[in-house]
Parts: sequence; structure tokens; C-alpha cells
Amino acid sequence: MTKEEKQKFKTLIDQEIVSLSKEAESIRESLYPERGDGPSDKVAHLSFKLDQSIHIQRYEEATKRLNRLRHAYLKIDTKEYGVCQECEEDIALERLQLMPESIYCVACMNELGL
Ligand SMILES: [Zn+2]
Repeated sequence: MTKEEKQKFKTLIDQEIVSLSKEAESIRESLYPERGDGPSDKVAHLSFKLDQSIHIQRYEEATKRLNRLRHAYLKIDTKEYGVCQECEEDIALERLQLMPESIYCVACMNELGL
């Protein structure tokens, strides 16, 4: 990977972190509504519970991805970035473009069942 490519991915990861942090923050806000904003009756309470579990799931996914992105960001200036942790082959640039936090190539990811 060239220096320019790394720089490009660094910017990409940085942007992803910013937008994902915002998303996680807004999910977190809907998880803890202001007092008085809570469900008013039983039916509302049920749908509120359901929404909560969806929000919790989305929040967990967002924070997990954030951690992976931050990890990738820290590693971008090392030789490890863009190299599969399993087979040590280069990860396809097209894949990194979509998921800059990737640590496995497509073949290994399938192999590992991830
Ligand atoms: Zn691999």
C-alpha cells in the first residue's frame, strides 16, 4: 500500500469514526428518554420495550464497529494495516474501501466463519 493510499484510508476511517460516534450518541439518547417522555400506557410500554431492544442492539453494533475503526486508525501507519491477520496477504483495496477496519481478507473471513 502506498503512502497516498494509507493517507486516504486514514481520512476515511477518521470520517467513519466521526459519523458513527454521532450515530451511537443519538441511539444512546433515544435509549434514555427524558423523564416524562416515557411510555404512557401498557401498549406504549410494550412498543417502547421493543424499540429499546432494537436500539440496544444497534448501539452495541455501533460501539463494536467504533472500536474496530479506532484500532485500525492506530495501526494505519504500521506495516500491519491492510494485511490479513490470518494469511498475511494484502487485503483487497476495494474491501478496505467498504470496511476500512478489516483485519482479514475475504477468503479468511469466510474460512473463519466471520
Ligand atoms: Zn487472509
